[in-house]
Amino acid sequence: MRKSTYAYISGIAVMLLFISLLSGCETPDHGDLIISKTNGMYNTTFIAMDTVMSFSVYGSNAKDEIYKAYEDVKAMEDLLSVNLLGSDIYRINNSKGNETQVSSHVTDQITVAKKVSVITGGALDISIYPIVKAWGFSQGEYTVPSKDVLTSLLDLVDYRDIDVSGDTVKITEGMALDLGAVAKGYTGQYIADKLQDAGMTGGLLSLGGNIQLFGKKPDGSLWKIGIQDPADDSSTVGSIAATDCAVITSGAYQRYFIEDGVTYHHILDPKTGYPVNNGLLSVTVIAKDGTYADCLSTALYVLGYEKAVEVWKSNDGFEAVFVKDDGTVAVTEGLLGIFSENTENVYEYSYICR
Ligand code: ADP
Ligand code: MG
Repeated sequence: MRKSTYAYISGIAVMLLFISLLSGCETPDHGDLIISKTNGMYNTTFIAMDTVMSFSVYGSNAKDEIYKAYEDVKAMEDLLSVNLLGSDIYRINNSKGNETQVSSHVTDQITVAKKVSVITGGALDISIYPIVKAWGFSQGEYTVPSKDVLTSLLDLVDYRDIDVSGDTVKITEGMALDLGAVAKGYTGQYIADKLQDAGMTGGLLSLGGNIQLFGKKPDGSLWKIGIQDPADDSSTVGSIAATDCAVITSGAYQRYFIEDGVTYHHILDPKTGYPVNNGLLSVTVIAKDGTYADCLSTALYVLGYEKAVEVWKSNDGFEAVFVKDDGTVAVTEGLLGIFSENTENVYEYSYICR
């Protein structure tokens, strides 16, 4: 068990940096970003949005395009960070009930998040920031808040009080937003669309395990995505062959701390203010749209298996893989023949969204 997520992230980063250096056929020529080339595929790994990101892209000029993608991610991070003075989210959170003019990146994310809040009965609620902050997840200074503190902060949490009108956002004074459950999915989608528009032929973008796929490999094959075993980060529970979609996982194992022998993780129930504990170890959502997939992965994790299946039944456009705490794996019907639990990875079909 790792003690600190940050130590864990930087451990991976150092390891990946070494791998890039060892396998890297190219020296850095874009600032300090190392972009290597292996069998025609350009790769880079860096830290952004408090996680490790890895981009693999095929296409002529891919090296320049990867660098632009990296810059886009950094700019998005600056726009969305809750802690950065002057970011769009910072300005909304300090607007004292007034309208705030923001980028369309922000209004688009809030709009999708609100829709997912509606279809999941508020399991996703981006106004949960006061609660996230009380647990120290946004600052990396973890602490267990008292029940009284959580109860009073819960009064500030209600996605229905977030108003988006044109390019402005308005929230009730005291409320605060956190796009942590949405931002990486949105950014992956945005980058993938831009890379395709620039003529890139295929890409696998991993934003801290949130995967966005487009196009194919030069031999015409699709991407094979393993779904991590939440109980063992060196193995998978299965895999799918897919492209032109997002494969996004939410799980308790991704960010947590331990106090007095109790584990507290970062996905919080907007009804109670506490980390959810309802029999799921992870939920992976596969959907055409990265923003939708990211919102849903968090929301379905909060809901638990039975309620999540109800959401799947009454809404189109996504499939899901559930890993339960008894070690069993369940998949929605659209993944039958696509998700492969066996080690040979035999797929009858592939998941292609457009
Ligand atoms: P990750 O960021 O690890 O990929 P998620 O997409 O599930 O995982 O987002 C979790 C993050 O979203 C938390 O770190 C927190 O900032 C925020 N969050 C936690 N619970 C909720 C919730 N119920 N609704 C909206 N955002 C949440
Ligand atoms: Mg999410």
